[in-house]
Amino acid sequence: MAAIPQPPTRQCTRYNKDGSRCTGKTSMADGWCRSCDGFGRPQAAQPKAKPDLRQETRWREASARPLESDEAYEVGVSNAALNHFIAAHGGDRRAAEAQIRSLLEDLLAADARPALRHPETGRWRLRTQRDKFSVTLSRDASVVTGYKVRHVDRTYAQIKAGVPSRVASPHRRERKKWFLALQTELPFGMGVMTARLFARLELGFEMTENNAAEVIEQMRDYMARAGISLPTQEGESRVTDSAGLEWTFEVLPEQRPYLVHISWGTEGQRRAAAP
Ligand SMILES: [Zn+2]
Repeated sequence: MAAIPQPPTRQCTRYNKDGSRCTGKTSMADGWCRSCDGFGRPQAAQPKAKPDLRQETRWREASARPLESDEAYEVGVSNAALNHFIAAHGGDRRAAEAQIRSLLEDLLAADARPALRHPETGRWRLRTQRDKFSVTLSRDASVVTGYKVRHVDRTYAQIKAGVPSRVASPHRRERKKWFLALQTELPFGMGVMTARLFARLELGFEMTENNAAEVIEQMRDYMARAGISLPTQEGESRVTDSAGLEWTFEVLPEQRPYLVHISWGTEGQRRAAAP
């Protein structure tokens, strides 16, 4: 039996949360062994100013995607995109290129968000949920011309692998602690905003720290009645219940599913608005 050729291994190029250099070996194209925290530089970079929203509004949702997911490895990556990536996360060009392609692959998947198209230039834009990461493609979709990240600390690959941020504001974490404490018995996790919206639109009251446990209880009842089962497959999945509510879950390796958001179709909104 012929031996399967192994990819060459090299020194992991990444850093841990505490700034120490990883000593592991890796055969991954992006230079990350996946056992350390995977930061491209020892310390977090300073966050940049918010992107210009006036420009963002010019993009229109496109009815199709420019490429198939597996074509992500055939497009070129411009120097501008590589430089943006390295400025945000550190690391070398090879790692930057591998990670931009892998992000692009996910952004082109069938369940990804719809592509945007610039009405004047014809360029394409693909983005993750909440616009955390986005890439811009040339009009003919042959080159990644831009890379943008909203929070500069972690790469898409790190977030996907569940590496916590080094720059999460202590205030924000503090604010959410009480809500996280209520979820210890839950088979899934969610953010405070998701529960707040569910209370407002589905239960008809505002969620506070005092009634949040009841909101969670009612959400569990709702899910049981609607027959919403938690996903077991890694990655993002959506399920629409009979009332038109769309539940988006994300499953990361070795973590319970996370309810990313619930969206209310027009039917759901009408129902919630009714007395
Ligand atoms: Zn490593």
